[in-house]
Amino acid sequence: MYNIVAASFGEIFLKGKNRGSFEHQLVEQIRFALKEFSGIKIYKDLGKVFVETSNEDDMSAIIEKMRKIFGIVAISPSIKTEKDPDAIAEKAVELFGYLKEKQEIKTFKVSTKRGDKNFPIKSMDFSAELGGKILSAFGDIKVDVHNPDVEIFVDIKKSCYISSEKIRTVGGMPVGSCGRAMLLLSGGIDSPVAGYMIAKRGVEINALYFHTYPFTSERANEKVIKLKELLEEYCGKIKLYSINILEIHKAIREFCREDETTILARRFMMRIAERIAKENKMEMLITGESLGQVASQTMKSMTVIENAIEMPILKPLVGMDKTEIIERANEIGTFETSILPYDDCCSVFAPAHPLINPKLDSILKSESSLKVEELIEICISTLKIL
Ligand code: ATP
Ligand code: MG
Repeated sequence: MYNIVAASFGEIFLKGKNRGSFEHQLVEQIRFALKEFSGIKIYKDLGKVFVETSNEDDMSAIIEKMRKIFGIVAISPSIKTEKDPDAIAEKAVELFGYLKEKQEIKTFKVSTKRGDKNFPIKSMDFSAELGGKILSAFGDIKVDVHNPDVEIFVDIKKSCYISSEKIRTVGGMPVGSCGRAMLLLSGGIDSPVAGYMIAKRGVEINALYFHTYPFTSERANEKVIKLKELLEEYCGKIKLYSINILEIHKAIREFCREDETTILARRFMMRIAERIAKENKMEMLITGESLGQVASQTMKSMTVIENAIEMPILKPLVGMDKTEIIERANEIGTFETSILPYDDCCSVFAPAHPLINPKLDSILKSESSLKVEELIEICISTLKIL
């Protein structure tokens, strides 16, 4: 029945000169999300973005993909017609017949929106005219303008689009409309959710994964790649960097107090992340930290860890409970992958009794026995793009 999907986005972002780039980003995101489909045309028509397909069979799969694209607030499967009153009426009647096959319809209403004022018939008049045609085509129905079983929407733009449902989608802003950031992506539950939340605000995400191969396995790699792919359904293309920080852990183990291991390792991770982010024109880091969840996420620990770098760190989960984070992970579809068994580099080298109140002085003193710059260089030389 349908040959096109109409996508609407939040009016609020459409004002002024941002509008053009907003729409452009959205079209790019849609193009990426639908890259597997052939015979697709994506274009703008008076404030909406349309995805037309020559393959009606792809329609439901296209809709599933489009539900997840940040920046779209609603989509409507639609029929595209010429802007000719008779052609529109014919299709509206056809759509009504199709809907009536699927569900019981006693009452209906037609709503016309005339974006193109050159269309010769006023919206109200045209709705009445179409309503009349539908009534005469089907006997047992009535018009109800307040609470109809079915509403037929006729949207007159450069072309005309007829639809009967608005599907609410994830919302947010188009990825790429609000800067770039580096997500520290582990194989856990939290960091994918953190990336999702920031990307939803229009930020283009890239990801960095630290491992300690051969202490962590290839399988851990694959898990992170899978998480990246799941996130890409919402966030668009994500570049995934990996770095081996084994040398850092070895040095810490050799020269520092065991209970400081996690804090020291985290400071190194932040420095490396900051450096790669800067070199690749990213403005902030993102982590999945949640206040008080583990020893390295107390206020004191976070302060000492962040002291190692200048770049701001976004922590969208900071005030969420683990159960709330898990709910969100389930909603977005990353949870099942996150809980697969894997060997996290931080748990491999985790101390038995990590500090919860680290002192910066003491940490700085420990660090002074390490060749910080040299270690960072060694690790950065293991950089790979997965
Ligand atoms: P997650 O579920 O995201 O792994 P977590 O509850 O296990 O989080 P931590 O292990 O303390 O918490 O990690 C806190 C944050 O630090 C993570 O959310 C992630 O952003 C970052 N991080 C931790 N380990 C890694 C890693 N191996 N590679 C990249 N980032 C990491
Ligand atoms: Mg973790």
